[in-house]
Amino acid sequence: MKYDVIIIGAGPGGIFSAYELMQKNAGLKVAVFEGGHPLKKRCCPIDGEKVKSCIRCKSCSIMSGFGGAGAFSDGKYNITNDFGGTLYEYVGKQKALELMHYVDEINMRYGGEGTKLYSTAGSKFKKLCMQNDLHLLDASVRHLGTDINYVVLENLYNELKDKVDFYFDTPVQKVEKTEDGYRVICKKDAFEGTYCIISVGRSGSKWMEQVCNELQIETKSNRVDIGVRVEIPAEIFSHITNELYESKIVYRTQKYGDKVRTFCMNPKGAVVSENTNGIVTVNGHSYEDPAKQTQNTNFALLVAKHFSDPFHDSNGYGESIARLSNMLGGGIIVQRFGDLIRGRRSTPSRIEESFTVPTLNATPGDLSLVLPKRLLDGIIEMIYALDKIAPGTANDDTLLYGVEVKFYNMEVAVDENLQSRYEGLYIIGDGSGITHSLSHASASGVHVARRICETAK
Ligand SMILES: Cc1cc2nc3c(=O)[nH]c(=O)nc-3n(C[C@H](O)[C@H](O)[C@H](O)COP(=O)(O)OP(=O)(O)OC[C@H]3O[C@@H](n4cnc5c(N)ncnc54)[C@H](O)[C@@H]3O)c2cc1C
Repeated sequence: MKYDVIIIGAGPGGIFSAYELMQKNAGLKVAVFEGGHPLKKRCCPIDGEKVKSCIRCKSCSIMSGFGGAGAFSDGKYNITNDFGGTLYEYVGKQKALELMHYVDEINMRYGGEGTKLYSTAGSKFKKLCMQNDLHLLDASVRHLGTDINYVVLENLYNELKDKVDFYFDTPVQKVEKTEDGYRVICKKDAFEGTYCIISVGRSGSKWMEQVCNELQIETKSNRVDIGVRVEIPAEIFSHITNELYESKIVYRTQKYGDKVRTFCMNPKGAVVSENTNGIVTVNGHSYEDPAKQTQNTNFALLVAKHFSDPFHDSNGYGESIARLSNMLGGGIIVQRFGDLIRGRRSTPSRIEESFTVPTLNATPGDLSLVLPKRLLDGIIEMIYALDKIAPGTANDDTLLYGVEVKFYNMEVAVDENLQSRYEGLYIIGDGSGITHSLSHASASGVHVARRICETAK
């Protein structure tokens, strides 16, 4: 089977590539190969009753399938060059923002209209943060919410399904260079395309590494972010979340000079577990629909770890720490802040007595047995710093879930068009190591689609 464009991965990167290709040149024959299920069939078996924790499905419905890792996410589209990826280093700052605004327009057209766009511009919290040695990063954030995000994805799928060939539950095993394009090999069949866009996200990171080795595409990797997810009563952060929804606050620790930052803030949200390549880590989301909201707000506190020679396996380091928590807790560990600073584990009865009721059924335990001292010290310092702008953050009943790890895909060598050393082979989204967010991944998809339409003319 021969296509003009083959897209591997139906996450935001792949979806927006397909969308833009159809907008700019509806005559192109496009196929999308996705290792996971169609959106409707994506369902995590954890129901809190029969299945209480991750059973390590072959294809994790949280991470894979139409919509990618973002499908059940909080749908926070951050329009900024300050975080979420380094797309601007390739396409320029102005262009990167333009692409992100374009993605936002499409999201609004396909079901997101009426959702709120928050902004840090002119916020009084910037000053308050600075006065307490904290730094608020600039961004506009569109909060779709898990429910509206799903509706947008459903509408985009309906728009594309008759124009593009989707192959679900079809992981691509190999990509080969042919004389005039690319051959992708799946379990049963092989398909050819003049152009190939690889957008396999974080769940495809190991596979991406294999493709780069086989095609001798240069890569580099040296960063991983490790930390915990903090859960507190929503009132404690409400003065910040009501105005900004999501605030990215950075703190430099006094002890080691490490940077600790807040990440993925979910007002009135829920803490969730996720499974990447068999390793269970913690994450969070929240709903726009008030009926689905909880009493708690959660956010991650992450410490960035950069490694230098001779160590290069930063993801391996993060995986080892996550494995340790999986070994001790059978999955995610939860600990009260008060127990952590008193040097004792949390027990089921201590968690039960806690005034903050956990939204995830995790194993009460001791995070100091899992996280290296340097990282844990940084997290504790930051909790005390946040307590100054949001009193109550350092309460005894603040819940800490571990571990949260942000794995960074190795960065793949591509040019300003996100094209690899092979003409017509584009590597985009989180799988390229260039983006780490919905808006940047989607924008990278639009960028390569436009480029392909220009060259295909
Ligand atoms: C729980 C959760 C909440 C999040 N919340 C937010 C948020 O609020 N805001 C934000 O900006 N970001 C959020 N993120 C991150 C965001 O989802 C990702 O940055 C984004 O989805 C990246 O898009 P992508 O298209 O590059 O990759 P992905 O979304 O990971 O999609 C890649 C797709 O490729 C498929 N694939 C992998 N390998 C193969 C193969 N060999 N063959 C075929 N298919 C393959 C996968 O199954 C997957 O569906 C969240 C992530 C999670 C897990």
